[in-house]
Amino acid sequence: MIAAVFVLAVLFGLFPDVDTNSKAQDIFLGLAFLTDVLLIVSGNIQAAAYLGLIAMLPIITHHRGWTHAKWAAFAVPLPILLIPFLYNQAILPMSVVYYGAAVAGYLSHLLFDGLLIKQFRIKN
Ligand SMILES: [Zn+2]
Repeated sequence: MIAAVFVLAVLFGLFPDVDTNSKAQDIFLGLAFLTDVLLIVSGNIQAAAYLGLIAMLPIITHHRGWTHAKWAAFAVPLPILLIPFLYNQAILPMSVVYYGAAVAGYLSHLLFDGLLIKQFRIKN
């Protein structure tokens, strides 16, 4: 569980830069592509269509657009809470911990981009 918390914090710490050519974009678009192929092969065409649509969103906006908004730090990781809430409430308490890790990772990105506290900017 500690490893999962760490991985989630790192992944969501990288996520905001999916809006630009970056390691984050390689990782997240790669994952979205593989998942989309699996959905199509397994006949879940509607889910595949929605995933494709969502995966396009970060690319059609400018760098440091909505992916770098404070609300996004709380909204983007929401599926970590919503999916267990809808399908398996027994794992919900653990999901809250994972969600917290994801939000913390996301906020750390905004912090280091100088978007939370201006004096704290340490990367471009
Ligand atoms: Zn950034």
